[in-house]
Amino acid sequence: MSEALASEIARLRACTACADLPLGPKPIFQLSPTARLLITSQAPGTKAHASGLPFDDPSGERLRDWLGLDREAFYDASRVAILPTGLCYPGRLPKGGDAPPRPGCAPLWHPRIVPLLPAVRLRLLVGGYAVRLVLGPKTRLEDAVRGYAEHLPRHFPLPHPSWRTLVWERRNPWFRSEVLPALRRAVATALAG
Ligand code: SF4
Repeated sequence: MSEALASEIARLRACTACADLPLGPKPIFQLSPTARLLITSQAPGTKAHASGLPFDDPSGERLRDWLGLDREAFYDASRVAILPTGLCYPGRLPKGGDAPPRPGCAPLWHPRIVPLLPAVRLRLLVGGYAVRLVLGPKTRLEDAVRGYAEHLPRHFPLPHPSWRTLVWERRNPWFRSEVLPALRRAVATALAG
């Protein structure tokens, strides 16, 4: 672990910028300076908040299936980094569903952390918040996923692997037939060697 990254991780763990979070600040991430693959996702859910383990839920199972990685490979911090758009559980919306990631989180932490991950070869942008954060605020998620090849070799846009995506997948068979094989190839290449 580089001194600079260790120091930023210590600051991140102590972050209380969003004092009004319903379960309190508790950033969830997985970071190492040797990681080849960086996953920028949405925000942790209640299960990840409780366990401290990102994607320790059915969405995580779906994402691992998409990537062609088992739990051991996915949670190998020396090869895979996970830095969500909002690092703490954001709570629920009044009408149901998780609240969006805290908007100030990524602007505060990503510019400090991402440059300290020099071995990253591929960054997965998982869900609309991550896609708009990195590819621009006007980017349409489905357009970005369909046009994934334009964003390679550095970025790979993906939908969020929530249960809602199952319905979307059925309406968009190109995702499973075209995008997922390309995704598995890009992930294997990033992690190879
Ligand atoms: S969501 Fe981000 S900015 Fe807010 S307290 Fe957590 S780590 Fe800090």
